[in-house]
Amino acid sequence: MVIRYAILSDVHGNLEALTAVLADATAEGARAILCLGDLVGYGADPVACVEQVAERAVAVVAGNHEHGALGLLDLGWFNPAARAAALWTRDRLDADHGRYLEQLALRTTLEEATLVHASPRRPEEWDYLISAQDGFEAFGDFDTRLCFVGHSHRPGWWSLGSSGREHVGHGSPARTRLRLLDGRRYIVNVGSVGQPRDRDPRAAYAIWDRDERTVTIRRVDYDYRTAAQKIVAAGLPRFLADRLADGF
Ligand code: ZN
Repeated sequence: MVIRYAILSDVHGNLEALTAVLADATAEGARAILCLGDLVGYGADPVACVEQVAERAVAVVAGNHEHGALGLLDLGWFNPAARAAALWTRDRLDADHGRYLEQLALRTTLEEATLVHASPRRPEEWDYLISAQDGFEAFGDFDTRLCFVGHSHRPGWWSLGSSGREHVGHGSPARTRLRLLDGRRYIVNVGSVGQPRDRDPRAAYAIWDRDERTVTIRRVDYDYRTAAQKIVAAGLPRFLADRLADGF
């Protein structure tokens, strides 16, 4: 039985970040990878990222950027840089990659966890869970003890139980370890591997240890300069390269 899962979201075609995170997860003893979608979009290595994750992950759900690149989502919902990246990505995915991404579910469950890209409430609406209220309102839309989400690119969590509610948003760097208590339920945003937006440029992901009953948000240094140079060289919007250094 797997004891430690590495949970990755929002890789966004950033191979340098993904490689660093996979190495860290292995060093941390994670024996299985779960992925919450947005493998592609923004970064210059969508194909390599899809292949790396498809080869390793035991569960993967789709994100809005998969749907955008595949033409399953109206790109009018995307900002101009995201739209340009979706069209650029569409040209690079061959039929096999397209079929793989197309068959990904919007949500799935594994052991006592629900996995979904944006929100367990209407996953196809791609709502962001940002505020305390956003998260607490979503607890009625899944029945497992845990729900892992991505999408906002900001790690944090919500917890609900008879002893009260807790919300730990991004910007709380001291609070990176969550101890899972009996009788409580949790929504955990694992942050983004390939394009963090909490003003910390390091790649983010989570380790769920079933034995210790903890979820830990890990931050991993990676070569964002190379990832940024590849974005510029690919002719993708320069903003997508520049923001990697800022982590925003
Ligand atoms: Zn994303």
